[in-house]
Amino acid sequence: MHDYHGYAKAPRPFLPLIAIPTTAGTGSETQSFTLISRDGSHEKMACGDPKALPRIALLDPELTATLPRATATLSGLDALAHALESAVCTKRNPVSALFAESAFRHLASALGRVVTGNPSADDRAAMLLGAALAGLAIENSMLGAAHASANPLTARHGIVHGHAVSLMLPSVLRLNATTPAAAALYAHFATLLPVPGTTPADLIAWLENTLAAAALPPVDARPFDFAALADDAARQWTGKFNPVPLQPVDFAALYRRALAV
Ligand SMILES: [Zn+2]
Repeated sequence: MHDYHGYAKAPRPFLPLIAIPTTAGTGSETQSFTLISRDGSHEKMACGDPKALPRIALLDPELTATLPRATATLSGLDALAHALESAVCTKRNPVSALFAESAFRHLASALGRVVTGNPSADDRAAMLLGAALAGLAIENSMLGAAHASANPLTARHGIVHGHAVSLMLPSVLRLNATTPAAAALYAHFATLLPVPGTTPADLIAWLENTLAAAALPPVDARPFDFAALADDAARQWTGKFNPVPLQPVDFAALYRRALAV
């Protein structure tokens, strides 16, 4: 698989691919990238090729009916992060913005019941559609600092991707909200919430309430090597597109704020 690490490394045509997701999270069914963990280092290798984009994505909420609560929660929170990070990243454009907003609208409508373990069939349909649209938002733009800082937590400490992203996302939103453009977008997204808000603070409060309801297991970050994590985060490709640029020292401060150390 390492031969395909990077972009457009596949020399020959692919067979047509029909993708049928059984979780509502990655949005891989609408992307030309796949993420494979490397044996040994657990480094996430992004392997992308335009030929790898599925021809068809079939979204069937029957297939997520038996998803365990923890898996539905963590994959749903990851999809939410995809919508929120692609919405404000420096590669955002009118096409990705439409996908990100539509993704957020669907995900926010259902996530509150997903994280408490009682989603309806309509909620599961909204989550699948939201995750696929968020995948399209990424395909047409990029991600940001929550993913850049989450990936080293997964690689070094085995924290599940959706959990790692959820740990970092509120602090990244607070940081990005210091820029007028991201603040305006967050304020707009707040108006799309089930109980509409008007400010970035309303969006962040909704996210933190959702995370509290999800009751993710606590992480004791005191033994973590923040300098090493920050160096890894600063090398992540996705971090280069965050609306607020971060150096290793900024990532170290972000980790301490997010992980309350
Ligand atoms: Zn993700």
